[in-house]
Amino acid sequence: MPYVITEPCIGVKDTACQAVCPVDCIYDVGEMLVINPDECIDCGLCEPECPVSAIFVDTDVPEQWKSFIERNAEQGRKAAESK
Ligand code: SF4
Ligand code: SF4
Repeated sequence: MPYVITEPCIGVKDTACQAVCPVDCIYDVGEMLVINPDECIDCGLCEPECPVSAIFVDTDVPEQWKSFIERNAEQGRKAAESK
């Protein structure tokens, strides 16, 4: 169950989550940061670091932000490939 970054990150992007991720699976994709689900080890360290509570485990993403699950997967995988 990977973690997912959602809408509140847009415009904030303070990178606090990126700083604590032990496997470097959080990527800056321009408008926001995203998590590559293939690399995330579900440690949960990023979640409490977010000042705007944008990070959720995928099963707990609020209904209105469900589309971010696919967005993190698509953009996160693409960013990981070009690492
Ligand atoms: S849950 Fe852990 S591995 Fe996954 S993105 Fe957050 S800090 Fe990184
Ligand atoms: S900590 Fe939250 S607001 Fe900051 S970059 Fe990560 S997801 Fe975005």
